[in-house]
Amino acid sequence: MACSGALLAGEQHICINCLITLPKTHFHVDDDNPVARSFWGRAPVKSAAAYYYFKKGTGVQNLLHSLKYKGQKDLGVALGHAYGAELKQSANFSSVNVIIPVPLHKNKLRKRGYNQSEYFAVGLAQSMGAVLDTASLIKSVHTQSQTKKSRIERVKNVEDVFTITNAQQLAGKHVLLVDDVITTGATIEACALKLAEVDAITISVVSIAYAS
Ligand SMILES: [Zn+2]
Repeated sequence: MACSGALLAGEQHICINCLITLPKTHFHVDDDNPVARSFWGRAPVKSAAAYYYFKKGTGVQNLLHSLKYKGQKDLGVALGHAYGAELKQSANFSSVNVIIPVPLHKNKLRKRGYNQSEYFAVGLAQSMGAVLDTASLIKSVHTQSQTKKSRIERVKNVEDVFTITNAQQLAGKHVLLVDDVITTGATIEACALKLAEVDAITISVVSIAYAS
C-alpha cells in the first residue's frame, strides 16, 4: 500500500522494502522535536511525536490516502501496532494508559463512514496495553472545511468545538491523543486545551505522519 508492489508471503499491507525505507522520524525518543516544539506555548502537551515524515508523492502519502479514503482500516491498525511497540519502549510514552483518537463530528462520521484515526488508535491501544476511549471526547460543533483558511482562523474555528462527556474517566490519566497527520496542529491544540480541563490529566500526542 506504500509502493503498489505485490506482497510476498509473510508481508501484510506494507512490503519489507518499504518498512525499511519509509522515512521514520524517531521523534518519540527526542523531547526536543519539531512536533513537540509546535505545541510549546500553545497547549499543555507533555510529549509529542509522529511515526513518519509526510511528503507528497511518497509511500507515506499513499498509506494515509488508503487509510482515509479507501477503507483500509486494517492498515491503520497495523501501523498502530508497529508504532505502539516502539512507543512502549520510550520513557516519554510508556506511562500512557488511555488512547483517544481526534473525534469527527457525527455528521462527518456518517458521511465518511469511519474515523481513520480511530483505527490507528486501536492498534496503538493493543500494543501499548492501554484503553481505547472514543466516548469521553466528542466533536460537538460541525466546522467547515479548513483547508483554505489561515492558521489563526483555523484555531478560532476549532476552539470550543470539542466537549468532554466523562471527565471522571480521564482524571489522573496519561492520555495519548491520536491523529493521522499533524500539519499546523490546530485541531490537536483545541483538543488538548479542552482535555486540560480534566483534573490531574497528562496529555501526549502522536500521529502517523508529520507534515512540516
Ligand atoms: Zn512497498
